[in-house]
Amino acid sequence: MSEATSSTPTLTTALTAVAATAGVAIVLRAIKRHFSPTISSKLQCKCGKIQGHVHAKYEDSARIYCYCQDCRDYANYIASLGGNKDETIGKEFGDNRVVQFCKNAITIEQGQEHLKLAIKKKEPNSKQVYMHRYYAGCCHVPLMNTVDFLGFVGVFCDFLDEKAVEQWDGPCRMFQDEGLGQPNPPFPDASPAPFIWKLIRYLPWRKSGPFDYDLTPVYWGDDSNGEKKEEKKKDE
Ligand SMILES: [Zn+2]
Ligand SMILES: [Zn+2]
Repeated sequence: MSEATSSTPTLTTALTAVAATAGVAIVLRAIKRHFSPTISSKLQCKCGKIQGHVHAKYEDSARIYCYCQDCRDYANYIASLGGNKDETIGKEFGDNRVVQFCKNAITIEQGQEHLKLAIKKKEPNSKQVYMHRYYAGCCHVPLMNTVDFLGFVGVFCDFLDEKAVEQWDGPCRMFQDEGLGQPNPPFPDASPAPFIWKLIRYLPWRKSGPFDYDLTPVYWGDDSNGEKKEEKKKDE
């Protein structure tokens, strides 16, 4: 018997085992999700002109504390549009807090016309994915971050019911290296597996939700806007 023929059944057995394990994992997750509680919250901007709701199962949610510089620069820029440069919603260590949901969990019942789009100014030849960040044009606060081709969205915790936020899954942290410090003890790191799962599972809903991708955006991260850049940490 040649090596090629003897290795084929081994490979087939291994692939079958992987497929079976994945299948069992998907079924177990579906059962867990079925019994997972649905949590509801009002979603409203700071001034109350934009009113909506979020209804999402615990299993379909993830509280993310993002420490990245981009989120801070963006929050500063949006606050500056209303002349409140010093009134951003960033937290003690420079984190912005969102809960991630499938796009179909979000409905806006009032004030859709105040929902505006901001996109980071594109660098020439950049391969970066540019997020669609929606903010309240009425009171200049960031509300939701997403990408047009993805099925999920991050909604800023500050504009959801505090009690509901505490019930959703998490929190975990991302881009902690870009933070202005960390609490003691720190929040756990976000793990990639649930993120990849959502990336795939929520794709059918990429066109759902109150998101108009054709809105004319404001571009942030543009020095010609006269944006006040946050000073970098000294050790960088
Ligand atoms: Zn408002
Ligand atoms: Zn961020």
